[in-house]
Amino acid sequence: MEVFATLEKMGHEQVVFFQHKESGLKAIVAVHNTVLGPALGGCRMWPYKSEDEAITDVLRLAKGMTYKAAVSGLNLGGGKAVIIGDPSQKSEALFRAFGRFVQSLGGRYITAEDVNTSIADMDYIFMETDYVTGVHPVHGGSGDPSPFTAFGTIQGIKACLMKKYGHTELAKTSYAVQGLGHVGYHVVKHLRDAGAKVFVTDMHKDRVEECVKLGAEAVAMDDIYKMDAKVYVPCALGATVNEKTIPQFKFEIIAGAANNQLANDECGNVIHKKGILYAPDYAINAGGLMNVCLELQGYDRERANRMVTGIYEIMGNIFKVADRDKIPTYQAADRLAEERIAAIGRVKMPTVNQPYERYFASRRGGKH
Ligand code: NAD
Repeated sequence: MEVFATLEKMGHEQVVFFQHKESGLKAIVAVHNTVLGPALGGCRMWPYKSEDEAITDVLRLAKGMTYKAAVSGLNLGGGKAVIIGDPSQKSEALFRAFGRFVQSLGGRYITAEDVNTSIADMDYIFMETDYVTGVHPVHGGSGDPSPFTAFGTIQGIKACLMKKYGHTELAKTSYAVQGLGHVGYHVVKHLRDAGAKVFVTDMHKDRVEECVKLGAEAVAMDDIYKMDAKVYVPCALGATVNEKTIPQFKFEIIAGAANNQLANDECGNVIHKKGILYAPDYAINAGGLMNVCLELQGYDRERANRMVTGIYEIMGNIFKVADRDKIPTYQAADRLAEERIAAIGRVKMPTVNQPYERYFASRRGGKH
C-alpha cells in the first residue's frame, strides 16, 4: 500500500504503529480528523490476514467516525484502533501495553470498545491512560450503549415518519426488523410498547422467541426483505440493501441501526430514485457514541437521553439538505458533516493557555 498517497486521498492526519513484543501487541491507531475535537473511536481486535488488510480497515473506520461525530453535533474527531491478533489470546498485559501507547498520543486519540473488546479490556486500558471511554460504571463509565443506540434509532424512525407521512406515531405503520441482538431487541420493544405491527427475524431462535413474547410476528430470514411493511429496520449486519434485496422491497422507509447498510453508493441512488426514504446509518445509530462521549464530561444518564433524543432533529436536518441540494440522503449526511467541520474549523482559535497545557496538566497532578 502507498500509505501517504492513501492518507492524502482519504484525508487522515496521522497513523501510528505500536508493537510490544512481551505482550504480543501489534496495534495501529488512525486519527482521521481532529478539527472538532479529539479523535474518538473503538479499538477492534481481529486476526487480520495481512497488515494491508488491517491498515485498510482502520483507515476506513476512523474516517467513518469523523462523519458520525460531526453529523451528530459532537465535539469529537474521528479515529479508530485495531489490534492485530486472535481475540482468544487477549490478556491484561496486552491491553495495558495498548493503554500506555494511547497515553503517549497525549489525548489526540480516545479509545473505546469495539468488535472483540469488552468493558473489562477498557478497564485494563484505564489503568494506564485516561483517554479511554466505555469503562465500567464504577469508574464513571456509561455501561452498555445498545439501549441508547436503540432509542436513537426510534428517534430516527420518527423523523422518517414525519418526513414521509407528516406524523410521528409509531403505531400507525408496520415494521420489518432484521437482527434481534443488543440493539434490535430494544428497538422491537419500543415499537411494540407503542402498539405497532412488527415482523422480526434472526438466526437465533431464542432471540426471535423473546420478541414474539413482546407481540412481534416471526418470519423466515430470507422473507424479511419482501414483507408487506412500510419500514425496514436493519439491525444485523451491513450491506443488506443490495442489488438482490432492493427489487423485493415494498418498504417506503429504511431506518435501522446496522452499520454500512448500503452495499455501495449506487444502491443508495437506486432506492432514492424509487422514492424510498433512507435514514443514513451513521447518523441514526449515533446514540451509542453520544452516550459514551458524555463520559468525557462526567457521565449523566439524563443528559445522554436528551442528547440521543436530538437524533430526530439531526435526521430532519439531513432531509433538509437532501431537499435543498436535490441529492440522496446518504450524500446529504456526508455534506452536513463536511459543512460543520468546515464551519467550525473557521471559527476555531487556539486558546491562550494551549502552549502551556502540559504545564497546567502537571500542576493538576494525576497518575502519569
Ligand atoms: P448483536 O451482535 O448483538 O446483534 C446482531 C443480531 O443480528 C444477532 O442476534 C444475529 O444473530 C443477527 N443476525 C446476523 N445476521 C443475520 C441475518 N442475516 N438475518 C437475521 N439476523 C441476523 O449486535 P448489536 O450490538 O445489536 O448491533 C446490531 C447492528 O447495529 C450492528 O450492525 C452494529 O454494528 C450496529 N451498531 C450497534 C451499536 C450498539 O450500540 N450496539 C451502535 C452502533 C451501531
